[in-house]
Amino acid sequence: MLNVDIPSLGPCQFASPLHQIGSTEVPFKTDQDRILYSNTVRGLEEPESALSFEEAGPREQIFFDPARTTVGIVTCGGLCPGLNDIIRGIVYQCYRQYGITKVYGFRYGYEGLVQRYGHTPLMLRPESVAQIHNFGGTILGSSRGQQPIGEMVDTLEDMGVDILFVIGGDGTLRGASEIAKEIKNRGLRKAVVGIPKTIDNDIMYLDKSFGFETAFAEAVNAVKCAYTEACGAVNGVGLLKLMGRDSGFIACYAALAGSNVDFVLIPEVSFTMEGTAGLLEALRYRLAKRGSAVIVVAEGAGQELCQAADGTDASGNKRYGDIGLFLKDQINAFFKARRMEVNLKYIDPSYIVRSVPANPQDNVYCSRLAQSAVHAAMAGKTSMLVGRWHNAFVHLPLDMVTHGRRKVDSKGELWHAVLESTGQPAIMV
Ligand code: ATP
Ligand code: MG
Repeated sequence: MLNVDIPSLGPCQFASPLHQIGSTEVPFKTDQDRILYSNTVRGLEEPESALSFEEAGPREQIFFDPARTTVGIVTCGGLCPGLNDIIRGIVYQCYRQYGITKVYGFRYGYEGLVQRYGHTPLMLRPESVAQIHNFGGTILGSSRGQQPIGEMVDTLEDMGVDILFVIGGDGTLRGASEIAKEIKNRGLRKAVVGIPKTIDNDIMYLDKSFGFETAFAEAVNAVKCAYTEACGAVNGVGLLKLMGRDSGFIACYAALAGSNVDFVLIPEVSFTMEGTAGLLEALRYRLAKRGSAVIVVAEGAGQELCQAADGTDASGNKRYGDIGLFLKDQINAFFKARRMEVNLKYIDPSYIVRSVPANPQDNVYCSRLAQSAVHAAMAGKTSMLVGRWHNAFVHLPLDMVTHGRRKVDSKGELWHAVLESTGQPAIMV
């Protein structure tokens, strides 16, 4: 077995303040409580099969003295259901379980850690965050754009922040890793712990990311609307664009849940428009057979077909071409040229999907992630993130997770289930 090690700030010299609740013992974990990478016999052949991850949870001995610990929280990148739940969970856990009384909320992403922006941090207390999980978005605000690592660490030093919780996507976690490196270079005793955010559910080595269930439940509502629209007109086509820049998990799950979807288009599976095997002919066949059709397209699908928008966003992420509008125009033009009446309704619910409050499943998941993150940080673990693997909460090194993305396997079970559900041609090239 090959242990995936988590960097540590040093030996744990303080007894955990967590105490028995009634007659229930605290389920302390040690670093020897581990979760195996593979839980199938087939998986034993995979290169990672020898890996094991540290299980999250409270440690009996901790690194930081709670009475002298100052905590900071920052949220970066795009919105995702559950951000407020995580903030609330961290604040509750710090105050109520560890007795920490100084928790700063940095405003507007990494900008809040750079003093010249003048975003004054919030002091977060349990009373002030009690209701925030009922709202979407993040009470701290967010931003994109690279910030100087040195200046951010200066701020942590100036404010005496011992633990920084960073909630964000791949970019944010790369930034967190850089902050942790700078802290190490300066010989400081500060922990950086990430809680990964991605609405696309595309983080490696994680069962699921928070907010995903809420997002896809919301996406299912949009699928239902697209279906209703498609059924209400002669040759109705409901075209729905969903999140999914590099991975099509939301599109796949939304289609499976609704089961009234005729075509799912995702970044992992190429397709062409023209030709006998292309999407347009397949759509014509489907309309002839059923009189209506629903197409769900992930935003990163078919990028080689539509003209990609120029440039990058503030964080350096490539801007994508609008595949939804491209499909709308192509489909309309195709049927117009054939003098065939088609009533296409295009729905793009992306901001609605990502800005809703988390649903109860995600409420629970976010609470557990926040609790795990605080336990890990208090034990002096750093440059890591918390996540769930095989239904257990685990610690993962930041660098291990940010080097790639999880994808829908075009030869795997999920994609096969989608093909069975939609009845779309397996190959559209
Ligand atoms: P989303 O899922 O919404 O894309 P994200 O966390 O990937 O979330 P980004 O805007 O890409 O969002 O990045 C968030 C922040 O992290 C930005 O302020 C960005 O400049 C910073 N960042 C990204 N990569 C790095 C890096 N290598 N070093 C330092 N900071 C980084
Ligand atoms: Mg990103």
